[in-house]
This record gives sequence, structure tokens and C-alpha cells, in this order.
Amino acid sequence: MDRRIFLGSALAGAVGATLSACGGGSEADPTLELASSSRRTTTTTTTTTTAASAKSRVIVIGGGMGGATVAKYLRLWGDAISVTLVERMPTYTSNIMSSLVLTGQRTLASLSLGYEALQRRHGVRVIIDDVVEIDPVAVTVKLASGTRLEADRIVMAPGIEFDAVPGLTDPDRMPHAWKAGPQTTLLARQLAAMPAGGVLAMTIPKAPYRCPPGPYERACLLADWLKANKPRAKLILLDANPDIVTEKENFAKAFGGLYRDVIEYRAGVAITSVDAAQMTLNTSGGALRADVVNLIPVQRAGALVTAAGLATATGGRFAPVDVLSYASTAAPKVHVIGDSAATTQPKAGHIANQEAKVCADAILRILAGGQPDPAPVTNSACYSTITRTQAGWLNGVLQYDPATKAMAPVPASMAASTGWSEKNFKQMGKWYEALMADTFA
Ligand SMILES: Cc1cc2nc3c(=O)[nH]c(=O)nc-3n(C[C@H](O)[C@H](O)[C@H](O)COP(=O)(O)OP(=O)(O)OC[C@H]3O[C@@H](n4cnc5c(N)ncnc54)[C@H](O)[C@@H]3O)c2cc1C
Repeated sequence: MDRRIFLGSALAGAVGATLSACGGGSEADPTLELASSSRRTTTTTTTTTTAASAKSRVIVIGGGMGGATVAKYLRLWGDAISVTLVERMPTYTSNIMSSLVLTGQRTLASLSLGYEALQRRHGVRVIIDDVVEIDPVAVTVKLASGTRLEADRIVMAPGIEFDAVPGLTDPDRMPHAWKAGPQTTLLARQLAAMPAGGVLAMTIPKAPYRCPPGPYERACLLADWLKANKPRAKLILLDANPDIVTEKENFAKAFGGLYRDVIEYRAGVAITSVDAAQMTLNTSGGALRADVVNLIPVQRAGALVTAAGLATATGGRFAPVDVLSYASTAAPKVHVIGDSAATTQPKAGHIANQEAKVCADAILRILAGGQPDPAPVTNSACYSTITRTQAGWLNGVLQYDPATKAMAPVPASMAASTGWSEKNFKQMGKWYEALMADTFA
């Protein structure tokens, strides 16, 4: 199959859907674009040879949104390529939708995804282990179990790490719940135990951080939940950024309208330290005591990316890459995708999935002696919950700009919902299912 044609037709679908949203008032449905990608690639599976007859080897580190997608698509599109995915957890827990666990609308178990389909259907070799070291020049990977793996290429997709917060010796006192898992359950319990009339403080770190609209949509969801469950409670939202980072119109409207008696939004307030015993945040705008604190710290690339010396962009936080192939600018045989990479694209699961496909395509072309597609395209779709039953959306296509060597938004494709609706909330569920099927099934 011609992967470039595939990417091109996906773009046409995405642009078409977006333009119809702008022009005709019907809403963009990113589910369609993802579904078309699954259909196209299903036919390719039958021509894929098994790992036993492999010529080239790729190791993927991290089986989240980026890593699972790149492993799957390397096998779907590859001809006799061996793909080994190393992931430390036996199952992946989706961050996407995990704020709904805080309001009791979803369980963590419902967000759990396994690696069986990658192994059985796509022939990916999955190793559950911790990668403790990579050698970017020898292209080798060392696992906690002591095993050493060799490859022709490494793809790193280890997500993010958090900066330490001075004074926060026990992170569970002020959970981030920004990696779905035990902290999500813990924060849900702390919220349930919060007294009526209590204070919930939430912090938003300086950008770039994982999921730009995520903290604002969580604040909206929790404000809606507080209104129903904790009379007279307040949510103080401390944003280290000078203003709402994204989807400002909808969030500002919700903060100042629906939630004017619940949310107090303070921009330009950074956390300097905490007194965890006293449940106090020391900030650039003074001290604040709260009953429950959801502290989302400043973020950087996965530890392994930093340890390998690849996180040299954004003040040493994220890994610069060539977005034609996602090859590290410091180590050409190591590719970095997803939240660990420094690109102009948002740190989001949908984008990690898109970057993974561009990366898989580029690796296969390079291993076959060719060059990456010189004009890659990605798209970003994002639903934001504004209440527990309503959502808004933001959608757009990004295209490689040879002048800046970066992915740039296609202006005509950028669209956002005016306001929020129950219909959008339902579509969000469909989008989620399609994205997860495209990534893990
Ligand atoms: C509350 C919340 C809501 C969100 N909502 C959305 C949304 O609506 N839409 C959207 O598009 N995005 C959303 N996101 C963002 C999305 O979850 C991330 O952008 C996405 O998961 C990034 O993918 P990734 O592959 O880079 O990292 P991850 O998905 O985090 O995967 C990283 C994987 O690497 C593994 N790993 C790390 N280090 C090692 C190692 N040394 N050895 C082995 N394995 C390792 C980890 O265990 C993990 O499984 C949300 C995030 C949050 C927190």
C-alpha cells in the first residue's frame, strides 16, 4: 500500500469534516477519520509477515498512546519487520476520560487497555519490564531484569515526569492524578470526604504540559460535582500561566457564568513550595490553605529521555525531534514521540497517535533505503467536558511547514464549538472508543 496516499486521504477526510463544521453547522466528528484509518490498514494485515522472518528490528519503549500506536502500525505497514514493545505495566490505564473517575462517572477499570491484540493480531513482541537505560549510538536497550536488546531503531514514548515540589514529601497529600492510576482513586476519595463549604485548590503548571485543556475541563467537571454534592464549597484554580491556555471562550464563559459562585480563577500564580501537613500552598500570590489539593506539577519528558541526554529543548525539559520522522536531533536512530517530544503540537493522546503513524511510516521508508514523507499531516481533535453531561470541542489539522521545519495549523481547518452540549458529550464517548481501538486493537 502507499502510506502517503493513505495519509493524504486521511487529511482530506479530516479537513472535510472540519470545514463542514465551520460552514454547515454540523459538528466535526473525528471518529470518522480514525475509523477510516482502521479500515484502510485492516487489509494490510494480511500481507504482513511474521516477526520470525524479520529483517529489521525496532524497539518501542512505553506502551501508551504513542508507543502502542507506533508498534501496531510498524507491523501493519511493515514488510517483515520485528517490533518489540517494552512497557513496565501489564495493562495501560487511559488518562483520557480519567477526570470522570473523580466524579464517579467512570471506573479506572473501564479505562484499562491490554496488549493482547498487539501481540495476537499484529505480531508485536510485548515485554513487561522497565527500561533502565538506552545506548542511543549502539542502539541498545537495557531492562531492569538485566536483559539487553539490540535494534536498528528505537522509538521512545515514555510520557512525562513531574518536577519535585518543595515541601511535598508525601505526594499523596496533594495528588496530581495526572497519570491515571492510584492517585486518581485517592483524589476521588479525598473529594468525597471533603466537608460541605470546604475549599478545593487545583493548580495548573506552566505550559507546556500534558493535555492543555485538561485542567480547565477537570475544574469545570469538579465545580459541577461540588454544586450537586458539597453545598457552598469553593474551587480555587491557581494557573501559573498568564491566561487560560486554550479554548478560552468556553472555559471563561463557564467560569464566569455556570460556576461564578464556585470557581475562583487566579491567573499568573505559580506554586513555590507547600506545607503538606498544614495543607497549605505557598504561591507567588501568597499562601492558600485548602481542604483538598489537586496539585499538578510542572512537567518534563520521561526520565529515560532525559537520562539519555535527549531532552535539550524547552529549557532542557523535552526532546527536540525532526517532525518528518520524529528522529531525535541528537541521536538519529532514536525517535521520540508523544508527550516527551518537543514539537509545536499539543501534548495529547490523539496527537501522540498521529505522531506515531508519521513516525512508523518514516522508519519503514528509512529502513527500506528511502526518505521520510516530506509533507506529513496530523490532526488534533479534543472534547472538553464543561458539565458532567455536556462538552465542547476543538478540532484542527496540522501540516509540515518547510520554512520553519515545524508542524503548523492549517487555518481553514481550525474550528471549535460555540458553547457545549449533551450531543458533544455523547460524541466524545464515540471518539474515545475509536481512538482506543485505533491504538490498542
Ligand atoms: C486527566 C487527563 C485527561 C486527558 N484527556 C485527553 C483527551 O481528552 N484527549 C487527548 O488527546 N489527550 C488527553 N490527555 C493527554 C494524554 O493522556 C497524553 O497526551 C498521552 O497519554 C501521551 O501519550 P504518550 O504515549 O506520550 O504517554 P503515555 O500514554 O503516558 O504512555 C507512556 C507509557 O510509557 C510507559 N513507560 C514510561 N517509562 C517507561 C520505562 N522506563 N520502561 C517501560 N515503560 C515505561 C508508561 O508506563 C506508560 O504506559 C489527558 C491527560 C490527562 C492527565
